[in-house]
Amino acid sequence: TSTGELLLEHTRDVPDFPQPGVLFKDLTPLFAAPKAFATVVADVADRYRGRVDAVAGVEARGFIIGGPVALALGVPFVPVRKAGKLPGDTVQQTYDLEYGTATIEVHTGAFAAHRRALVLDDVLATGGTAAAACALVERAGGEVAGIEMLLELTFLGGRELLSSYDVHAIAAV
Ligand code: IMP
Repeated sequence: TSTGELLLEHTRDVPDFPQPGVLFKDLTPLFAAPKAFATVVADVADRYRGRVDAVAGVEARGFIIGGPVALALGVPFVPVRKAGKLPGDTVQQTYDLEYGTATIEVHTGAFAAHRRALVLDDVLATGGTAAAACALVERAGGEVAGIEMLLELTFLGGRELLSSYDVHAIAAV
């Protein structure tokens, strides 16, 4: 898609970050380009308008994209945070990383009053983060209406872990 091309034009490849051998996709050029950023936000919002009751953005870049998407849709934004940041009662989900584990959480019952959630993040890599975020949506009273990623790293096969959900990525590499 042309939005996909626009996105890739505003993505920077950073070799050996955060570790040697990793080619990191940096989206800060997109966030620094208001017209391109607005085009991407509108593209995402148009895909889900009328079909979601909340946007669940994954810390931290899912916050940057998710706030404007939620406002465009006129629905609540619900932060999916790294453990220890949310002030209220939470449900937590721990998942495997390449080395070790990570834990994310949402407020208990966060989706009970607005059930159909769009799970949103910047990059789909192994899919572990998105799968954990989807589990949290379900454990916090919601259902996953879709998963939206700006960029999919297809060679990592993240979609397999998310095969029970609708996954859309604006661009894939
Ligand atoms: P996964 O759990 O392996 O799919 O990793 C996805 C998480 O790591 C997301 O929250 C991404 O923001 C982050 N991530 C992984 N690779 C990249 C990258 O190349 N650029 C930016 N973020 C990345």
